[in-house]
Amino acid sequence: MAVDIGQSPADGGLEADPSGAPHQLTEARGTDYFSVRHRFTTQQWDTFMAVRRFVDHEVLPVAAEAWDAAQMSWDVINRLPELGVVGDDIEGNGCPGLDPLSCGLVSMELARGDGSLATFHAVQSGLAMKAIDMLGSEEQRARFLPGMARLETVGAFGLTEPDHGSDSVSLETTARRDGDEWVLDGRKRWIGNGSVAHRTVVWARNTESGDVHGFVVDTTTPGYEASVIPRKGSMRSVWQADIRLDGVRVPESDRLPGARTFKDTGRVLATTRGTCAWIALGHATAGYDAALRYALERTQFGKPLASLQIVQQRLVKMLAELTGMQLYCMQIAQLAEEGDLSPTIAGLAKMNNTSKARWILSEARDLLGGNGILLDNHVMRHMADIESVHTFEGTETIQTLIVGREITGLGAFT
Ligand SMILES: Cc1cc2nc3c(=O)[nH]c(=O)nc-3n(C[C@H](O)[C@H](O)[C@H](O)COP(=O)(O)OP(=O)(O)OC[C@H]3O[C@@H](n4cnc5c(N)ncnc54)[C@H](O)[C@@H]3O)c2cc1C
Repeated sequence: MAVDIGQSPADGGLEADPSGAPHQLTEARGTDYFSVRHRFTTQQWDTFMAVRRFVDHEVLPVAAEAWDAAQMSWDVINRLPELGVVGDDIEGNGCPGLDPLSCGLVSMELARGDGSLATFHAVQSGLAMKAIDMLGSEEQRARFLPGMARLETVGAFGLTEPDHGSDSVSLETTARRDGDEWVLDGRKRWIGNGSVAHRTVVWARNTESGDVHGFVVDTTTPGYEASVIPRKGSMRSVWQADIRLDGVRVPESDRLPGARTFKDTGRVLATTRGTCAWIALGHATAGYDAALRYALERTQFGKPLASLQIVQQRLVKMLAELTGMQLYCMQIAQLAEEGDLSPTIAGLAKMNNTSKARWILSEARDLLGGNGILLDNHVMRHMADIESVHTFEGTETIQTLIVGREITGLGAFT
């Protein structure tokens, strides 16, 4: 059922948050100029509003401080299961089984508040749980997923290596069969949650066949060592780790049977590309909302900034790009609902939205003047965080090359 939410295009009429500065600048304005939200069902609307309230009331008040201190906000993270969002669209085994649009709205709203929180959720629900759901046996799904949906078990996804990022297809971590066990050796880099996870899905190459397999590694196993990558200037309140795997023994029962070759790894990554497009939309929305509010409130030369022609033009251009991003997201959700979302369409959406979000956030940062570089005003944090979204799960260039190969039939990379 579609819901008439009766909102004006400029402001969703959502309740104001009473907590005031400094987070009021990124308080949701309900920006929805083309009224895409009129297509939400009651269920989608409820999910969206529940996460939006959580973000406005619980996430934004602590996000800047956690970012500054490079601390993970466990008090906030541990509330995610209550919202019924951990596990996204996975059906059964305690997972919420959300529809694609609801999943996107959750990612967008989390990122509108805090990109680190959205990234934590994307690793847990999107990469780690999705790998187990898509490539695991029924027994493995029943064993691992319920605890992950309750966040009693934190997951990670270990693909990237020090020498293989964009070309992770060439990964060098090895898996040697030894009776009923596998022995893993290698190095992983940039692994989100890698130092706090209970289970890491590790991708490694079979020493006999040369094929890539996936293993659910218990991080307490001797030989697994993770160290947090320090001094990041982006996504500071979610940790990525360097991981050493020295003779890590994994029972055959923890090898994902559906992960036979790297193509299977790619199938998991293809499902999470669309999530990145939604996350980019959340970051950009925060920037646009803050810029509009600031321009209305800030007076220079005796007038509000928002009354100046150049400022209005910049705000309208930002809105035009943001609205395009919303339409991309709505359409990829629709295609996913119909089972027609291809990896290249999701890749184009990720490429477009991260690129537009970077531009919107740089405009927003500038429109806030000197206040734009203060963490208390949030825009700088989003501007720094979007750099990670631009890079992870296939850089903008790699998505471009993937789409380029499809439209020309000519591969420009191997
Ligand atoms: C915050 C964060 C979180 C992450 N989380 C995870 C995680 O949980 N699990 C995981 O496995 N990995 C994770 N990653 C790793 C991420 O997926 C890689 O950083 C990404 O794939 C890029 O790899 P790279 O950093 O090695 O860059 P490189 O591949 O070295 O790329 C460097 C530059 O070269 C360009 N380039 C590369 N190849 C080509 C080409 N053929 N033609 C033109 N240009 C090219 C790239 O676009 C980029 O601009 C994370 C990264 C970050 C920053």
